[in-house]
Amino acid sequence: MNIELLIIGQGISGTWLSYYLQKEKRSFIVIDNNQPNSASRIAAGIINPVTGRRIVKTWMIDELISFLIPAYKELGDHLNINAIDEKSLIDFHPTPQMKLAFDERSKENADFLYQPEDQNRYSDIYNYDFGFGEVNPCYVVNLKEIISGWRKRLLAADQLIEEEFDIDKLMQTENGISYKAINAEKIIFCDGINSSQNPFFKNLPFALNKGEAILFESTGIPTTHIFKKGMMITSIEENLFWLGSNYLWEFDDDKPTEQFKKQTETLLKSWLKVPFNIIDHKASVRPANVERRPFVGLHPVHKNIGILNGMGTKGCSLAPFFAKQLVDHLLYKKEILPEADIKRFSKILAR
Ligand SMILES: Cc1cc2nc3c(=O)[nH]c(=O)nc-3n(C[C@H](O)[C@H](O)[C@H](O)COP(=O)(O)OP(=O)(O)OC[C@H]3O[C@@H](n4cnc5c(N)ncnc54)[C@H](O)[C@@H]3O)c2cc1C
Repeated sequence: MNIELLIIGQGISGTWLSYYLQKEKRSFIVIDNNQPNSASRIAAGIINPVTGRRIVKTWMIDELISFLIPAYKELGDHLNINAIDEKSLIDFHPTPQMKLAFDERSKENADFLYQPEDQNRYSDIYNYDFGFGEVNPCYVVNLKEIISGWRKRLLAADQLIEEEFDIDKLMQTENGISYKAINAEKIIFCDGINSSQNPFFKNLPFALNKGEAILFESTGIPTTHIFKKGMMITSIEENLFWLGSNYLWEFDDDKPTEQFKKQTETLLKSWLKVPFNIIDHKASVRPANVERRPFVGLHPVHKNIGILNGMGTKGCSLAPFFAKQLVDHLLYKKEILPEADIKRFSKILAR
């Protein structure tokens, strides 16, 4: 079989890459092993424009948001699903100092940070001592339906092979690559943390990061908001909520830990006034990196081998934008944003 692109992985990165290639009417095959705890299958899908104790805007967020809202809407229409919801984030201040910091920031950023006047609005549902601020707008991407909906489309079009990719069977040829019975002009790795073991890309500065989440049932929590007090709560189905996450740089495996379960149970008991019932506990490893910038582009030495990866904690906002940049680069030789282009690692990749 002769195709233009072979894509490894159908998380949010491989989904967007294959979607944009399909829009361009290019021939491609995706190989994905359907790993149940890949990062895209565990993530909440939250896009929060601010970060950290200083409540500053995240990298490129204005540009990313103006790109990704129409992009997710278009993908949602294509799949007949609701791909993205706008929600505001209710940020319960953990300390009086954090309340002060939020007050200061909201003066400078009154277009998206507020201190609502009615500070008792959630006092029937939550315990909180130092009030709350509101970040508006935030977004929640419907990862579950996007990944499974796009997968069904690819399967129906014979464009997805559900199996483990075996890198030992990858050969470089005069005109591209071959893998088993597939000849392709190029191969692009969108395989999340697996790229950190890949002989072509293992020198990239991956800094893998484990995160866990629990799912709990409850009634009476509004679904119109994301709620934050150290961790975040967002609704994923009627009466079903996601709570997470933690960030572990040192870990032995990708399994849920007893420690996180206890920590979240304690948090919910002290935070929620409404009853709750924990029904699931999940863990995954984020394809994060030292610079917190994506890895996008073609290998400087092996020109037919590329990558779309390194999405870290922000796959939902970064993947659509950089998938489009990569497609425009592959098809129209457009420049990839230098901070994301793997050209910046040419020296270490050439080793
Ligand atoms: C607990 C947690 C919460 C998170 N919350 C958010 C959030 O709210 N918002 C946000 O933007 N981001 C969040 N993230 C980060 C987000 O999950 C990642 O940035 C994103 O999912 C990365 O997507 P990806 O497609 O690059 O990689 P992945 O999702 O890891 O996808 C890789 C794909 O490749 C497949 N694959 C891997 N190896 C092989 C192989 N050898 N053969 C075949 N197939 C293979 C896997 O099955 C998978 O489908 C969270 C992460 C975690 C762990």
